[in-house]
Amino acid sequence: MRRVRLLVFNAALGPLDYRVPEGMAVEFGCLVVAPLGPRQVLGVVWEPERLPAAEVPDTRLRPLLEALPVPPLSAPLRRLIEWTADYYCAPLASVARMAMGSLAALRGGGTTTEYRLTGEVPARLTTQRAAAIDALHGEQASLRELAERAGVSEGVLRGLVGVGALEAVTVDIDRPFPPADPAHAAPRLEADQQAAADVFAGAVRDGGFQPFLLDGVTGSGKTECYFEGIAAAIDTRRQVLVLLPEIALTENFLRRFAARFGVAPVLWHSSLKASERRRAWRAIVRGDAQVVVGARSALFLPYARLGLIVVDEAHEVSFKQDEGVRYNARDVAVIRAKFEGIPVVLASATPALESMQLAEAGVYRRVELAARFGGAELPDIRVIDLRAEQPERQHWLSPPLVKELKDRLLRGEQSLLFLNRRGYAPLTLCRHCGYRFQCPNCTAWLVEHRLSRRLACHHCGHEVSTPEACPECGAPDCMVACGPGVERIADEVAERFPEARVAVVTSDTLNSPGKVGEFVEAVERGMVDVIVGTQLVTKGYHFPELTLVGVIDADLGLEGGDLRAGERTYQQIAQVAGRAGRGEKPGEVLIQTRHPEAPVLRALASGDRDAFYDAEAESRREAGAPPFGRWAAIIVSSEDETEARDAARAIGGIRPDLPDLMVLGPAPAPMALLRGRHRYRLLVNARRSVQLQAIIREWLGRLNFPPGARVAVDVDPYSFV
Ligand code: ADP
Ligand code: ZN
Repeated sequence: MRRVRLLVFNAALGPLDYRVPEGMAVEFGCLVVAPLGPRQVLGVVWEPERLPAAEVPDTRLRPLLEALPVPPLSAPLRRLIEWTADYYCAPLASVARMAMGSLAALRGGGTTTEYRLTGEVPARLTTQRAAAIDALHGEQASLRELAERAGVSEGVLRGLVGVGALEAVTVDIDRPFPPADPAHAAPRLEADQQAAADVFAGAVRDGGFQPFLLDGVTGSGKTECYFEGIAAAIDTRRQVLVLLPEIALTENFLRRFAARFGVAPVLWHSSLKASERRRAWRAIVRGDAQVVVGARSALFLPYARLGLIVVDEAHEVSFKQDEGVRYNARDVAVIRAKFEGIPVVLASATPALESMQLAEAGVYRRVELAARFGGAELPDIRVIDLRAEQPERQHWLSPPLVKELKDRLLRGEQSLLFLNRRGYAPLTLCRHCGYRFQCPNCTAWLVEHRLSRRLACHHCGHEVSTPEACPECGAPDCMVACGPGVERIADEVAERFPEARVAVVTSDTLNSPGKVGEFVEAVERGMVDVIVGTQLVTKGYHFPELTLVGVIDADLGLEGGDLRAGERTYQQIAQVAGRAGRGEKPGEVLIQTRHPEAPVLRALASGDRDAFYDAEAESRREAGAPPFGRWAAIIVSSEDETEARDAARAIGGIRPDLPDLMVLGPAPAPMALLRGRHRYRLLVNARRSVQLQAIIREWLGRLNFPPGARVAVDVDPYSFV
């Protein structure tokens, strides 16, 4: 190739053509550095016929500067990037960037100096030094990274090097990861588990695209089954990608993986250190990172020999990214498997309606695990009508729930109370003047966090310390908390059962792998009687002594009533219920509600999942909602309210008038202000046969927006705020 077209990693630039200088060899997918004016840009050599651009004569082409010493992006990955950009109406460059690890990873290898504790204790032990030594057990990293981890200055650490408490070690920055052993601790599977495991292992060995829906009740051993697919991949020297919905779940997964395969898998998520990121990326492109476990960002990495993708808890809405490229990692995982020609397993106890439909239509092959492992029974579910069984004033636990909690405490068993609200109270107001604490940047109340004595916005992170007096009327000590968050429920448990050991589990308290580990250990060792938690504790955990689950407010998720409210409530409650009775003792679930007649609660109480899905499918069919119809949102935002409104009106003003397509709005978004930006929304609803993306691209392409206005398209939206 003497002339190439580049996809440049900059969404503001279109494709660019270059000349390949003498002596440089390039092929499609190569990563190269090219001149652009006085600057340099990074790009990927792309098939020109797939990337239309204005023709530039040969004589005007500038030469490429450098071909980077990393393997080219494969054709299946290039097709995946194109598909994703096209489907989600996103710039190609923005999607392509997700395949990159870090810029540093593109440069050749080498060694680096890292530091670790020697075990020596310095004679002069200041509090800072003691804190650093405490924090750095088992850590090895650069001084800067260690300083960050320990929360001390690099100077303190240099002091520790000086007195021999820390030592320098030279490490290869690309040292390989220890290999996993597929035979390390193969479990003895039950018959239905074995059947499922054989299906996955067989599909991996045979190769070829095959999408599976692993539909198994909570506690059935889904992980054990897909682990056998992973074992087959390791055996045949293929790589595996396991996607988890959130980083908080990885700790638990790592333990189980290490127990099965003898070593930890390779981790990929947004809070990796730069050195870890580089090392992982290089191992992934070389093909010797055998099993990569990550959040959705791991999906676009350039695996050299991918042989299997697993999406665990595949129904989770956090697989949908709601900013930047608004893609759904569950759906794109299936597309990637298709381009790569490999099997993909979507695992869930409560599959998304979309996945159920695809299984019913025969597109996905359903693999079922109908019973819990080891003969454990699914828990009994009881719906508590809060109108009849009222909690005391300013309390949230109904009498039956209090009684069951007491029983568990007497028997020495564990309980879990679920409320999907962080903090102490969702709204704080002044008893005197009615002033409500509101976020200045968002359409949202500030949430009181009593443990850290602050009021915080859960959307933008704005925080103030809880004031002593009302900022409006000046009255002292007049703030009242309205409604409960998990901290307040924990207070109520402590008030009723002062001897109970209570653990509050939210993203505020379980914010590092270390904290997750401590929590799991405390529960496993019986140091916790009552767990009060948000959705973070609804999945993944296996606590055999946990026999009671209380759902504090089942109606919370049904308010606001977006398309998936019923489904989400069903999934959340079924998942949290699934934490009960996983060991030898039977479990019981109490669901508190003011609407016991709601279909979702009736389905939960009777355990009739099929009836729920059928009813849900029917109402979506009537509404023309996914998976029967298609939706896309157009979100217009600006720091200037008028600018946002005008841009939204301009879009609405030239709406396409087509059969089978309906445009709602523009209207101010429910979150009319978010992170300081004013927001308007349009919602497009169309039949499945409509080429929705092409229509939207053409529609928006006819307009020019002022630089301050941002127009985002959200195809298959999950968030309606
Ligand atoms: P699920 O993900 O389906 O809720 P898990 O995979 O977490 O279920 O399995 C539940 C528990 O049962 C886990 O502690 C797991 O280790 C255990 N388990 C499942 N199958 C087996 C097996 N065949 N042998 C030993 N333990 C098993
Ligand atoms: Zn805010």
